[in-house]
Amino acid sequence: MTVTRRAALPLLSILLVVSAFSTARAADSRDDQLNRLLGLALRSPFMRQAAIRLIDRIGPRVAGTPNGSHAEELAAEIFREAGVPLVRQEAVNVPLWQVHRASLALVKPTNFSPPVVPLANSASTPPQGLLLRLVDAGYGTPQEIAALGDAARGAALLVRTGVPAGQQWLHRSQKYDAAAAAGAAAFLYTPAGLDRPPRSGTVTLSGAPGPIPALSIPATTGAWLARLAAAGAGPEVRVTLLADRIPATAYNIVADLPGRDSSEVVLACAHLDSWDQGQGAGDNGTGTIVLWQAARTLVEQGLRPRRTIRFVSFTGEELGLLGSGAYVRDHGAQLESIRAVVNLDMVGEPTGFATMLQPQAAPLLADLAEHLAGFGLATDVPDRPGLYSDHQPFLLAGVPVLVLRSQLPAAVGAAYHSARDTFDLLDLGQQQRAAAVTAALLWRLANADPLPTVRLDPKVVREELEAAGIEVRSVAGHPEAGH
Ligand SMILES: [Zn+2]
Repeated sequence: MTVTRRAALPLLSILLVVSAFSTARAADSRDDQLNRLLGLALRSPFMRQAAIRLIDRIGPRVAGTPNGSHAEELAAEIFREAGVPLVRQEAVNVPLWQVHRASLALVKPTNFSPPVVPLANSASTPPQGLLLRLVDAGYGTPQEIAALGDAARGAALLVRTGVPAGQQWLHRSQKYDAAAAAGAAAFLYTPAGLDRPPRSGTVTLSGAPGPIPALSIPATTGAWLARLAAAGAGPEVRVTLLADRIPATAYNIVADLPGRDSSEVVLACAHLDSWDQGQGAGDNGTGTIVLWQAARTLVEQGLRPRRTIRFVSFTGEELGLLGSGAYVRDHGAQLESIRAVVNLDMVGEPTGFATMLQPQAAPLLADLAEHLAGFGLATDVPDRPGLYSDHQPFLLAGVPVLVLRSQLPAAVGAAYHSARDTFDLLDLGQQQRAAAVTAALLWRLANADPLPTVRLDPKVVREELEAAGIEVRSVAGHPEAGH
């Protein structure tokens, strides 16, 4: 109940600011529409009920598993209950990664077996496992792995999360690739901080099988192994991973609120799938319920947008952007109609907006942030391209991507992909406010005349990303994705 009390104050202050504003400019029907939207979103019980059905009644929902299908059925049901007129499902091939056995055993200089989390799409070992020398590879940057020289060959490489201070962030798949290329026989991934939980994750971004086995191990075990290696104790480990990749079908759930002009679409999306250790509360229960509440609100207000607003609960994001990748591949010819994509992945207290290689859209978003003064949104709109969620296949295809910036509590941010990602961490007031801002954003994008987003040449996108120091590799959804 403390959650309700905490949420109540900001809600009241938001409504006061909004109503003061609407009195001042009562003639402006655009503002009246916005205020009505905000009121509907902030007062709706819809989101809280949807959160319970998704996060507690289903919980973990890896694409291709029975829980994954239940979540897809729920998404379709929710869009129908929200009153979105057109709801459909689109099939996506996903590998169902089924783990039979995953273990790590320290066998020299002593015996110890910590709990482990297998990393998805990594390779199986022989049934008896692999007996390997353990070599500490630091953060596993390409430079650190190169510095190991021949020592990396045939070894189990111990790699920490994160990067050394001041260096460009690396996705785990980049470190995994560097380890495999150096001839490592196994990849052991450990949190850089002792208070951090071991996380799930995929080692390939295309969802394709990787070349060597990979396990996430507890931070305390990683630190122990590192001390043994540094002391010259010659630690040896047995790595065992037995898993199958079974072809399975999962579904993107797509719902349209048709516009007066259906040749233009504003697309909002959130990945529905999660990892299997926790409940998928922060990642991505938060983005999912924000999407669903925004859909409910935009239908409830009863006005028809100029452009079609499309809501998509994507499958298979965690396995390598499989749902959004398939969407971009399968709808190649229709991508031209998509005037903006807003992806909701791990959404907390709304803080403002950003663009991705669309700086000319900043004034529109800054204006909206000013109109939403009660939410305390920043009015600067940075242009900040980035990868690694469902907006990525769209961005690389040149489709305009806009961003809702938000802030989750540190505990939620730290819990993603781990057993700690549970309902208990959430303060749903944040998502309720994010849903209100998202509804306002989508309404503004769907009706703006003109909407100042532009379709980009994929070559230019690549150049811009590389200029920003962001490595673009073969990834799902991109026309050049390696198969
Ligand atoms: Zn996510």
